[in-house]
Amino acid sequence: MDMTRIRDRMVEHQLTRRGIGDRSVIKAMRTVPREKFVAPGFEEYAYDDAPLSIGEGQTISQPFIVALMLEKADLKAGDKVLEVGTGSGYASALMSRIARQIYSIERHERLALQARERFETLGYHNIDVRVGDGSKGWPEAAPFDAIVVSAAAPEVPSALKEQLDIGGRLIIPVGRSQEQRLKRVMRTGPAAFEEDDLGGVVFVPLIGEDAWTAAHPMYTATTPSPGTFASGPASLPNAQEKGMETTDKLPALPEGVLDHTEFQQRFWAVQRLSWIMFTLLLATCLLGLLGRGGPFSRQTLLLSDGSVDFPIISRWNAPEDMTVNFTASSEDRVFTVDAAFLQTFSVQGIDPPQKATFAREGRIGYVFPADPTGPTQIVFRLQTQLAGARRASIGLGGEVRSQSTFIFP
Ligand code: SAM
Repeated sequence: MDMTRIRDRMVEHQLTRRGIGDRSVIKAMRTVPREKFVAPGFEEYAYDDAPLSIGEGQTISQPFIVALMLEKADLKAGDKVLEVGTGSGYASALMSRIARQIYSIERHERLALQARERFETLGYHNIDVRVGDGSKGWPEAAPFDAIVVSAAAPEVPSALKEQLDIGGRLIIPVGRSQEQRLKRVMRTGPAAFEEDDLGGVVFVPLIGEDAWTAAHPMYTATTPSPGTFASGPASLPNAQEKGMETTDKLPALPEGVLDHTEFQQRFWAVQRLSWIMFTLLLATCLLGLLGRGGPFSRQTLLLSDGSVDFPIISRWNAPEDMTVNFTASSEDRVFTVDAAFLQTFSVQGIDPPQKATFAREGRIGYVFPADPTGPTQIVFRLQTQLAGARRASIGLGGEVRSQSTFIFP
């Protein structure tokens, strides 16, 4: 496997595309072999966009969040840096490629020893590793130009603030499981600090005197059951997430993943609005098709003495035509409508005009002269009167049919 190419791809896809721009961080990420910091047999997952289990219920952080923390720590070549939570040693190794001297503290002895061995093998000689409670910092080596804490504290430990040099930067996740914020604290004077919020994150807890206690539910919730680490590759990336789910009944974000919930909710709102607008537009187009003058706006009734073509979709107060076709006949022809028809439509003109008009049994009849030579077409010029769904009956001779017209307001 060509790890250099995989590493370069990880830098391109996971870091630069997400806005990591600090050249020294990018260079270090291209240089340090992350595959040497994961458990043997799991090298192929080393460049996944996720945290991985490293045993002791702990994780090596997602590459992006490590890069983000280092970028925000604004490391310089001459800096002296403290990392709290050595874990696999990967973040300390990266920092050792940028800064002058790294002090790295880890509470789990086995992890600290493994990390020290890795540094020796790789020839990273500017990293001191110590086993202990990093919530108290490393007073003998203080002050630091930067402190990076790789586990979440209930609040910013005062010892760490005090061990910052003037102008020093402290990067630390603060808060309980689902409500952690990544903070940057900058010491601007002997007793003056500035604090920035860098976004939502999910980290394992910082366990110590000035942090969470080992019995804290957040801690017990994040410890994977024995065997999680050894059970197989599929369990590795999300070992920590599963532990959190059990306690909080909420799916946890993988460690280090920034919480984009607010952006996502806004995105969904815009998406929903777009759908509504699209649906309205579509409905308008369909109504145009079905609407007055559209191909489905008229209907032809076929009767034994001829046919009637009349509007079934119209608009209020609009002119409409109704065409009556009589078959050839040697007797006078009669077209009838009921009172409901005359409420819906007013008859503005008849072309050619009727010979006579009569009223009988609640119907109005229009009489047209006989024509045995061929069919006759009569056009009724109408005007719609009432909006809504209207029902009326029309007839040729003695045959009567009901018909409906929808008139838009
Ligand atoms: N930066 C590490 C890496 O690159 O692999 C990952 C760190 S892991 C997310 C957090 C580490 O913090 C764990 O190894 C955990 O044991 C350690 N930790 C938690 N509380 C600590 C404390 N009070 N002092 C030192 N280390 C602590």
